[in-house]
Amino acid sequence: MPSSSTMMTTAQPVAKIPDSLLKLVDATLDFAIGGNMFKPKVLRALSGVSFELHAGRSLALVGESGSGKSTIARVLSRIYQPSSGKVEFGGQDISTLRKSELAHFREDVQMIFQDPFGSLNQTHTVGYILERPIKLHRRELKGADVQNHIVELLEQVGLTPAKDFVRRRPHELSGGQRQRVAIARALSVQPKVLLADEPTSMLDVSVRLGILNLLEEQKLQKNLATLFITHDIATARYFAEDTAVLYAGHLVEQGPSEHITSRPQHPYTKLLIDSVPNPDRRVAVSTERKAADIPLWTSDKIGCPFAARCPRATSICSHEMPEPQSAQTGHFVRCHHV
Ligand code: ADP
Ligand code: MG
Repeated sequence: MPSSSTMMTTAQPVAKIPDSLLKLVDATLDFAIGGNMFKPKVLRALSGVSFELHAGRSLALVGESGSGKSTIARVLSRIYQPSSGKVEFGGQDISTLRKSELAHFREDVQMIFQDPFGSLNQTHTVGYILERPIKLHRRELKGADVQNHIVELLEQVGLTPAKDFVRRRPHELSGGQRQRVAIARALSVQPKVLLADEPTSMLDVSVRLGILNLLEEQKLQKNLATLFITHDIATARYFAEDTAVLYAGHLVEQGPSEHITSRPQHPYTKLLIDSVPNPDRRVAVSTERKAADIPLWTSDKIGCPFAARCPRATSICSHEMPEPQSAQTGHFVRCHHV
């Protein structure tokens, strides 16, 4: 996998990171989950989360199940409205988009889901699945141009001979092939941003690398800004220039993937990394989660959400979440004890 510096074209200064395309600014999201009129119980799924996605770069969002990763993708794609904070696309607050602008936003920001079995309509052929968004969003293409574009897209995602795949239906394809169709569908409207929510976690291990390489190749060719959601920090390092670590809806560490994985600062990031090379330990961490679990972070809670599991926690941790502090250029961590 090329490093971020080798991905730059020679025309660009090596250190320059392109302007942010999609930006999450101090987003908090609350869900009412019970209680009563006088004392409602409010799940704080996201607490003051900020990050930026840049053209031609990937940010990996890493965290255990239930940490708020999919919620972030939904906020970024305007499925959920944050309770406070905002999302900016090209500098504009997306909650202020007018109808015509919203249609463009929906083209520009595409999602790829975890489940390629559920995300494709089983009754339609691959040709029809791709034809619909093209006819809707690429009105300049007519007749044979639409069919040519479908063939081109299938070739781009490695489904060849393309003419064979056009006639098939999702149930005739493997999981990896279906995910390739889902990626082709996302690319068909020429997006600027891809939000890939655990795109390989439901696939056979043997085809995962192929899908990651395809996403990487498309990111480079089309200069896409990519959010790559994963619970596996090793894949994050492989795939993304930058990594952000999420715990109970709080970003606890963020920076260049190489720094994060070679010099992790936050105890939770260290725990994630320690669990990677040793399969026994990985099992231990995941079963431990069932017992300890990520705390249900309700709006009345204060302090660092990791305190209860943290080997370094002291009394300050249970009543104050620290602001991000810089560990190195572009590398931030939120911990009282780094
Ligand atoms: P992840 O993708 O990291 O596994 P999610 O973003 O799906 O986590 O969920 C984060 C938390 O928010 C979980 O506790 C989940 O139950 C809760 N949550 C997500 N969507 C809703 C919703 N619509 N209503 C109530 N709670 C929700
Ligand atoms: Mg999820």
